[in-house]
Amino acid sequence: MKNLSVPLENYNDQNIFARILRGEIPCKKIYEDSYALSFYDVFPKAAAHALVIPKKPYICFNDFINQASDEEISGFFKAVGKTIALLGVSERGFRMVSNSGEHGGQEVTHFHVHILGGEKLS
Ligand code: AMP
Repeated sequence: MKNLSVPLENYNDQNIFARILRGEIPCKKIYEDSYALSFYDVFPKAAAHALVIPKKPYICFNDFINQASDEEISGFFKAVGKTIALLGVSERGFRMVSNSGEHGGQEVTHFHVHILGGEKLS
C-alpha cells in the first residue's frame, strides 16, 4: 500500500513554528509552559484563532501521539484547555482542528492544534 503520510524521520527544524520556538521570529503569545506554546494565527480564519504547539519537535498528530510520553501528551492538551480559556471562547464554543499530513492539508510540519471561535462558524 502506498504510504501517504509525512515521513516521520524528516522533521525540518527550519519550519516556521520551530523558528518561533527558538525565538528567531516573533509571535503574539497567549500561553506558555514547559510542554506547549500557544499564540495567535497570523492569518486568522475566525474572529478568534489560536495555534497550540508542543515544545518538542513532532511533525504531525501521528508522530506526536506515537512518540510523545503520556506526560507530554497530557501537558500538551492541558495547555490547549488553558489556551481556550484565555482566548475567551470556552462559554460560547469553538472548533478544534489539527490538519495532518498531505491529505489533511498540513502546511507547517510541526504538530499543532487550531482553536477557532469568537463568532458562529460555518
Ligand atoms: P496548517 O495548514 O494546519 O499547517 O496551518 C498553519 C497555520 O499557521 C496557518 O493557519 C497559518 O496562517 C499559520 N501561520 C503561518 N505562519 C505563522 C506565523 N509566523 N505566526 C502565526 N501563525 C502562522
